[in-house]
Order: sequence, then structure tokens, then C-alpha cells
Amino acid sequence: MRRKIVAGNWKMNGSRALVKQLMAPVGSELAALDNGVGVVIIPPALYVADVLESAVPGVEVGVQNIARWNSGAYTGEISGAMARDSGCGYVLVGHSERRQLFDETDEQIAAKVGQALDSGLTAILCVGETLAQRNAGTAEHVVAGQLRAGLVNVGDNQWPGIVVAYEPVWAIGTGETATAEDAQAMHAAIRNELEKLGAPADELSLLYGGSVKADNAAALFAQQDIDGGLIGGASLKAEEFMSICRAVPGSY
Ligand code: PEP
Repeated sequence: MRRKIVAGNWKMNGSRALVKQLMAPVGSELAALDNGVGVVIIPPALYVADVLESAVPGVEVGVQNIARWNSGAYTGEISGAMARDSGCGYVLVGHSERRQLFDETDEQIAAKVGQALDSGLTAILCVGETLAQRNAGTAEHVVAGQLRAGLVNVGDNQWPGIVVAYEPVWAIGTGETATAEDAQAMHAAIRNELEKLGAPADELSLLYGGSVKADNAAALFAQQDIDGGLIGGASLKAEEFMSICRAVPGSY
């Protein structure tokens, strides 16, 4: 059965003081959550230890990026093995900000997915079309291409280490959200493409990301192929983030 997950991507925000402030409600309210959601906090890498220290059992931690190499003379980089060694279980790969602002290519993203899996991390592969691509009617084609390219290194027995986050670029940090119906349609197309790639598609968790808030989360998470969310801005507001976690339906 696929896992229900709400992951909070703090991006390049936060401080040690903010970790304490944000993690306290997560800790106190998590015990009351009875919908089985897996909560993943993805802070800047420097704060992973602080988050782990404040986290209650059941909260998992991830990093926002890893190197495409496993070790060596790559000043400034952090390997998947280091993230795992530091207590992380997850890594974001191919976030649109990395693709656009850091020119990450499909080949680099595939290498990072491979590093994540070899290190024992679950890779959250982010895919999504731009507004121009959606308007041109090529959204599904673009997303399918990102999936094929990003997952090219996944071995037959490594699929349990893959989560896919569909994040339309035009919805990230903009306040615009895909309608629940459009998001569902893309998630179904993603599951279909995963099947073609040989993945156990029905067992993989697919998350929606892009301006998810407390007031639109329930409609999105009620969709058949949406197993939770990847949350940016709203994950920096503890009460709002916990409301989003509560919006995951109790069981399939
Ligand atoms: C994200 O950064 O992955 C994201 C979805 O951001 P936001 O929720 O702010 O749109």
C-alpha cells in the first residue's frame, strides 16, 4: 500500500530559533494525527541536526539537494551518504528551482536519483511543466519526459525508494494552484508512465506541490492518485502546515 506523505520544503529559509518555533507544534500535534500521514521536514542542510533534535518519533527529515558524486574533491557539495549518515531519510531531486536557477540537467538529476538510492535515501523526484508548456498543450508530454530521464538509473528492486512530486512550475510560490481535477489527471498520467517504465506504479506515492494551503489541501488530497503534498511556503507556518497534514484522508 502506498504511503501518504506531507513534506515541508523550507527552501533557503529559517534559523536555529525558527527550527524550535516550527517544530514544537509539529511535535505536540503529530501524536493527535490519526490519518497515518508520514510527515517529512526538509530544512536547509545546516539545520538537519537541529530538526532531528526537535523532532518527535514519526517525523522524518530530508535534504533539498545532494551531489551527483559519492565523495571527493567537490567543494561545497554534500553526498547522499552524508545525508543518510546524518539521519536523513529523504532528498528532493529535480526541484524546478534547481532546474531553472542552477541549470540542472536531466542527466544530473538522474545521477542524483542514483546517488540517493545507492545511499539508502528515498528520492522525491520533482516534475512539472511551465505555464507556456501547459498553454501549448504539452504538459503531459513534458512531465513524461522528465520521468523517463530522471528515473533512467532506477534498478528493478529500487522503486520503493522513489516518490514523485508533481509541481507545475506556474503554481510554485505564486498562489496559483492546479484544480483538483487537473492535478488528478496529471497524477493518473504519471502513474501510467511509471507503469510503462516497469515501476510498481500503484505502490508508489505521488505528491502534489504548488501553493498548497490549508484551504485547498483537502480537495487535492481527496483525489484518487494524489497521496499527499510537497509544501513550500506554507510549511514555514506551523499551524497551517499541521492543518495541511490533517487534510490527508484517513484511509484509502
Ligand atoms: C515547493 O517549493 O516545492 C513548493 C511547492 O512551494 P509552494 O508551496 O510555496 O508553492
